[in-house]
Amino acid sequence: MQLSRRALSVATGAAFVVDVVVAGSIYYVGTHSKKDANVDEYESVTSDILTCCLVRIFVFPLMAGLSFLVYKRTEASSPLQQFRQAQESAREVVSNGTNGDLRVPLAEVPMQAVNGSAGSSIVSTSSCEKSAFEMNRDHALLMKRADRRKEIIMLVLFAISTGMSFYNGIKCIVYHYDPRFLALQGTLQALTMVMINVEYFMLKNLLNKFTEEQGELIPHIHMHPLFFETGLKCHGCDVCGDQMKGPHYIAYRCRTCDFDLCPRCYKQKDKHSAKGFGARSVRRDGEQITTWTYFKRIVQLSMEFWPTLVAAVTCLVVTQGLQIFAPNVQGSIFDGILAYLKNPENGRSKFEYAMLTYVIINVLQGCFSGLKALAQELVQRRMACSVRLKLFASVVRMDISFFDTMHTGQLTSRLTNDASTWISGSAMPWSNSGLLSRLLLGWFEHSVSLSRLAPDNPDVKQ
Ligand SMILES: [Zn+2]
Ligand SMILES: [Zn+2]
Repeated sequence: MQLSRRALSVATGAAFVVDVVVAGSIYYVGTHSKKDANVDEYESVTSDILTCCLVRIFVFPLMAGLSFLVYKRTEASSPLQQFRQAQESAREVVSNGTNGDLRVPLAEVPMQAVNGSAGSSIVSTSSCEKSAFEMNRDHALLMKRADRRKEIIMLVLFAISTGMSFYNGIKCIVYHYDPRFLALQGTLQALTMVMINVEYFMLKNLLNKFTEEQGELIPHIHMHPLFFETGLKCHGCDVCGDQMKGPHYIAYRCRTCDFDLCPRCYKQKDKHSAKGFGARSVRRDGEQITTWTYFKRIVQLSMEFWPTLVAAVTCLVVTQGLQIFAPNVQGSIFDGILAYLKNPENGRSKFEYAMLTYVIINVLQGCFSGLKALAQELVQRRMACSVRLKLFASVVRMDISFFDTMHTGQLTSRLTNDASTWISGSAMPWSNSGLLSRLLLGWFEHSVSLSRLAPDNPDVKQ
């Protein structure tokens, strides 16, 4: 699921092209549809959508580019960056300089010192390591500032895109559609809204891709790159279990998951006898574990109990559907009361019918949500059981050296605490009723708004 920079750039460019095509089509269809003379200009004109789109395709990349420039300028002032560049150029000069004049007396500084292993007891390298640590710390702070500056510019861009979304959204509603091209015009207008958001998020993704920092990957200790960070008070090392020490609370932290490595363990990272060495988490075939991999695994695991899972999802859909339907019935109850007040004979039956429907809906809702909870609980428990069995089976089959470097407590905690935390987290996709109801609600609202626009609707004719 990780796209390369090139693919992402192409996709972002394509989004802008699609946007221009959509806006152009709206303009073209708009000029060829028939106009009512008595309609307000704002409600019939389409050139503003096209102008908006043209402004967008210039302003959006410009702002993103500005954000990138600001980030890079801030990054260039980092002492660590300057040091790396100096080292790079020194190496180049040494390798290119066949005549003695070009040789620069820049000593090759050990890379280990740059990677920052502070707090060494070795006296001879301590000053070198201290400055390396300061450099790393300054770099970490500076990168945070650069990130903040980048985010501020992107925030302005977000405000602009939200403003455009608002403008186009209002336009969507008040626009006088030609009955002949109703579906086409409606779809195109909706597409504009989608494209504004797609463009913003793709640009943001692209920017993040181009400004992401390269962490250090230590595959035999952790599966993700680790980043030098300071100020991690109350964080514990995930290898030796020690708390981070003051005054700077340095650690090598994973930005994907909650993994910290203390400087002491970092220094011993290449020793085979060090704690945590056997906890290699990268698979032998080199597959990187990402959020997508986790999701795929959850789906795979839950597929073992698919009948229960299908029942859970069905109950979830039904419950959410009923929840969306309920306000409509509540409305008709009020309509029934009003009808009764106007005409006591006919109104009563209407009110009774609405009340009966409401009661049935509520009973059904109760039944299905109970069933949903039961099915979810069953899936969760079965998953927990199967995960623990699998985990135990693989731990038992590990090499004996794995047990030399692994804490017994960590293994026990993995089987009990980690497994249950994981299970409660992985049940999320199946129980996320909020997300589902929002999707259903969105679809419902969309169909309601479309039906309101239909030419045979009495609301429109008035
Ligand atoms: Zn440690
Ligand atoms: Zn991680």
